Amino acid sequence: MSLPKDPAENLAALIRCPSVTPAEGGALTALEAMLAPLGFAVERPVFSENGTPDIENLYARLSGNGPHLMFAGHTDVVPVGDETAWSQAPFSAAVHDGEMYGRGAVDMKGGIACFVAALARHIESRGKPKGSVSLLITGDEEGPAINGTVKLLDWAVGRGEAWDAAIVGEPTNPDLLGDMIKIGRRGSISGLVTVHGRQGHVAYPHLADNPVRGLMTLLDALMSPAFDDGTENFQPSNLEITSIDVGNAATNVIAAKATAAFNIRFNDTWTAETIQAEVHNRLDIASGRRKYRKGRKEPVEFEVTWRDRPSHVFLTRDDKLIETLSASVKAVTGRQPALSTSGGTSDARFIKDYCPVVEFGLVGKTMHMVDERVALDDLEMLTNIYTRFIEDWFEQG
Ligand SMILES: [Zn+2]
Repeated sequence: MSLPKDPAENLAALIRCPSVTPAEGGALTALEAMLAPLGFAVERPVFSENGTPDIENLYARLSGNGPHLMFAGHTDVVPVGDETAWSQAPFSAAVHDGEMYGRGAVDMKGGIACFVAALARHIESRGKPKGSVSLLITGDEEGPAINGTVKLLDWAVGRGEAWDAAIVGEPTNPDLLGDMIKIGRRGSISGLVTVHGRQGHVAYPHLADNPVRGLMTLLDALMSPAFDDGTENFQPSNLEITSIDVGNAATNVIAAKATAAFNIRFNDTWTAETIQAEVHNRLDIASGRRKYRKGRKEPVEFEVTWRDRPSHVFLTRDDKLIETLSASVKAVTGRQPALSTSGGTSDARFIKDYCPVVEFGLVGKTMHMVDERVALDDLEMLTNIYTRFIEDWFEQG
């Protein structure tokens, strides 16, 4: 059997599977076909939950004597958007001017294609790694992420799996391959603040209580002062107001209620719990302020509700993992990668509860866009980085 040593060939096979979340689209079958000749035991658990589509996932393990490395990622992709706007069909894997086009090319079928090619090259030239390698691949990263990585980790642990380190193959480089390794992520939490006033006529505001004034008072307090100035490894925490809703179409009416939605990306100064407490504290103090509510005796009447589950902030400290990967990137690209915690959340936030995790993949510039594409040279370089990492990481035992 021929081994899947060519990342471009691997990627083309994956792109041709239209695996828009929640569809498997043949992508896991294509991946399984690559892993089987490498000696992996492949399983494809399906997870369900009321109100969400069933999702198929993949866990593959190549067992050996020594440490256990996990590679994690997803084969699902975001929708193509306006298909006519693509210069190449989004599931064709067409190559034009040295670049392969297709939804998922960089986010993140490309990362998977390169890791598989790296393993194939390692196995062909040096035999099996001195330890175990697992691929933990979900079909539910771009969707609600309910039947994906969280359940897959839980399922694997239930079968006795344990890992020493993990790499997530998401596209981490802003411009050039080798720019950036992600060694942690900020936390994220979303909330709603609702102010209850008293409806009335705009010409008689003293008889009403305009909730917009109350809401402005509260939002002022959320936006300043800054939560912190940033830390050694993290940007400053930031709150963004994402929506303000009063739903009042009349020009002569003071509404009874006003609501604002906000999201906070927070650094390691905070936990989800302490940042929530800070928000409540700021609102409690601000509710008595008179800046926009001259003459009001009663404080702003408000409530806060927190949405979804928070994402917790984390920072990976594992010298072997981080330094081996940095050195591999430097050796192949000539660039010293920045160790960053910037950007949005990823499935690494779940993996960090089981083993140290870092993220390194392709250049993310075109992810989720029309004409998502990857340079064939980048595929080759990322494969070389992963190959070198696998060699050096297992060599250290
Ligand atoms: Zn992704």
